[in-house]
Amino acid sequence: MRMPGTSGGPRLTAEHNGDVSFWWRARGGFPPRRPSLPGSLTADVCIVGGGFTGLWTAYYLKQSQPGLRVVVLEAAFAGFGASGRNGGWLTSALPGSRDRYARGPGGRDAVLDLQRQLRETVDEVARVCAAEGIDADLVKGGELSVATTPAQLGRLHEELLSDREWGLGEKEVQFLGQAELSARVRVANGLGALYSPDCARIQPAKLVTGLADAVERSGVEIYEATPVTRIVPGSGGAGPDTGPRACTVFGDVTARFVLRATEGFTARLPGQRRTLLPMNSSMIVTEPLSEAAWQEIGWAGREAIGDSAHVYMYAQRTEDGRIAIGGRGIPYRFGSTLDHRGTTQPETVDTLGRILGRLFPAAAGARIDHAWCGVLGVPRDWCATVTLDRASGLGAAGGYTGHGVAASNLAGHTLADLVAGEPTPRTALPWVGHRARTWEPEPLRWTGVHGLYTLYRAADRIEDQGADRTSPLARIGDRISGIPH
Ligand SMILES: Cc1cc2nc3c(=O)[nH]c(=O)nc-3n(C[C@H](O)[C@H](O)[C@H](O)COP(=O)(O)OP(=O)(O)OC[C@H]3O[C@@H](n4cnc5c(N)ncnc54)[C@H](O)[C@@H]3O)c2cc1C
Repeated sequence: MRMPGTSGGPRLTAEHNGDVSFWWRARGGFPPRRPSLPGSLTADVCIVGGGFTGLWTAYYLKQSQPGLRVVVLEAAFAGFGASGRNGGWLTSALPGSRDRYARGPGGRDAVLDLQRQLRETVDEVARVCAAEGIDADLVKGGELSVATTPAQLGRLHEELLSDREWGLGEKEVQFLGQAELSARVRVANGLGALYSPDCARIQPAKLVTGLADAVERSGVEIYEATPVTRIVPGSGGAGPDTGPRACTVFGDVTARFVLRATEGFTARLPGQRRTLLPMNSSMIVTEPLSEAAWQEIGWAGREAIGDSAHVYMYAQRTEDGRIAIGGRGIPYRFGSTLDHRGTTQPETVDTLGRILGRLFPAAAGARIDHAWCGVLGVPRDWCATVTLDRASGLGAAGGYTGHGVAASNLAGHTLADLVAGEPTPRTALPWVGHRARTWEPEPLRWTGVHGLYTLYRAADRIEDQGADRTSPLARIGDRISGIPH
């Protein structure tokens, strides 16, 4: 029986749902599983989590200090988390609020520096891909934030004004009118866009697989199917057993430093339940579109494309001519529980399918090949953190709020610098040592997030009717949540 969809008509469904993500299926399935931790051992640095953050940290540690024994412990397999499921925007977008970072000791200059270093990070990832022979389908086509309603257009103008105040010139971000936008890509009802050149499209599973292989080639030991059950701080002494420990059912890794890179999964670790909220994001991908459809859509530049709705969508044109499009389904599961291997709800598949058809009518009838979801880590103040406490030997990086593909490279590089203990331009960035308060306990946490998205969806519906300014409902939502704009 076909179920009614969210906007009438039969519900749109996907051929595959879950299996971690389409990106893994597209690259021919999961990579061969690496062995689990063979038993207790000691290392110089132990990294918990084999996503981009953990792997980039390991990569730069070995680049600067080849003699270190570096061990990565991964609960499933490298790239199982958001790093193998994301929208493939290698974006220089700031993970957090400029104003909030500017309250740190480095002030405004440190924020300008973070913006600049994030832009350079897009090229740094491309450089490593070239140097390590990683084919990640990387195309630096830039990023388009598109407005499809007058209220969204108003927000783009506000954003541009703020960007200019924060030192971004025409080279970093420019406004495109309706005609300039449609010369690049025909988005139905596209009224204008902001264009930034500092973004590349990637195939996430290809990047994370290539990076894990490069890290392993450099001598890092990656143990998979090895969930860490507890992280114990070191006592600060000089003896061999005084360092911090990562505990697993197979044994413990004792090291000088234990670095947590568990992002949206962090709540499962004892003592970390309220540190990062696991926010869900879901994606669908179409079958490869016909040449005629691409003629109608354009999109020759492979820009990453997002809209400016409060519950926004993000999309990419894949290497093999599909559209992959993502957005917020059910935003958060009660008690910070997680999805099962990326299976997403049928309602979310239907909603994303309709957004696809609305924005790209030429793709409206395309088969939806695959749907999946994943979690990203959201700190209470929506600003990312890189920390290392030399006394306990514990460190962490994450909380990128959905902008972590490039940021995890810079954060991992920074964490490696902090381990080395010498100041670098990265160790003065405003997210170093940044602390956010913890999330509210349940049921407040669930009620707050679901209430927020109810407000945002209502605001989008009002704006879709043609309102020419941002709905006050969304402003209330922003004020309650502290989400930066
Ligand atoms: C659907 C989706 C779309 C997204 N799109 C974009 C995008 O287009 N651009 C962008 O910039 N960002 C995007 N993001 C966010 C981005 O993917 C993440 O910020 C980034 O991948 C974070 O990398 P990470 O290594 O910190 O976390 P993850 O990739 O989640 O890695 C954490 C790893 O830790 C492991 N782990 C967890 N707990 C333990 C434990 N106890 N013991 C051992 N291992 C453990 C997990 O298995 C996992 O492999 C998206 C996220 C999602 C979910």
